[in-house]
Amino acid sequence: MLEALKTVVVRCAQTAEAEGLCRWRSGNFSALDTQTGLICVTPSGIERRTMKPEDVVVMNRSARVVEAAPGRKPSSEALMHLAAYETRPDIRAVAHTHSPFALVFAALEQPIPGLVLEAAHLCCEGGTVPVAPFAPQGTTALADSVREPLQKGDALLLARHGVMAVGASLEEALLKAAYVEELAEVAYRATALASGASVAALPPESLALHYPEKIKMK
Ligand code: 13P
Ligand code: ZN
Repeated sequence: MLEALKTVVVRCAQTAEAEGLCRWRSGNFSALDTQTGLICVTPSGIERRTMKPEDVVVMNRSARVVEAAPGRKPSSEALMHLAAYETRPDIRAVAHTHSPFALVFAALEQPIPGLVLEAAHLCCEGGTVPVAPFAPQGTTALADSVREPLQKGDALLLARHGVMAVGASLEEALLKAAYVEELAEVAYRATALASGASVAALPPESLALHYPEKIKMK
């Protein structure tokens, strides 16, 4: 079932790997089928390089597995994905990555300032990517930690862990996860060039000027 959507999930997961947004077994991806209300999610602990559409697990909104190949179980972050769909009825996909520059900010539990225009695509409050409070991997606490930041924007850092981005499609969620990494790299390098001095974020008005329909002015 949902073969086309499973193919999208695998393609996006493998693109994320190829683009260096996650490596080996870290990260997970899901997409919602609006007709059935079911969610296609990457299997837990399976390397993306060899992942096939039949490895993708189908679950319902209560995390009950509807279809899974033998030996395949949903991502350990299934509850976190479900919390995102519950919090944001407008979204259709979730990307969770462990990209390297964003991880530096996540490790320091430091928000990523929006120094360049890519920030506008994330629709985060004030153009800054926020940090959800730390909670252990795969827990309800981690799932709950993303709810508040997702009410204010389409991307966030999971403290000491990684990145989450949401979108109207998995391609869009992945693009946002890529922009988070780009913003993190720019902020990291700009701070180094400024010898550790704080670097000024683009004012939200400037972001709104370039992408007036996208940025949330709060
Ligand atoms: P899964 O392989 O279970 O999806 O876990 C990867 C991960 O990134 C956990 O946060
Ligand atoms: Zn993770």
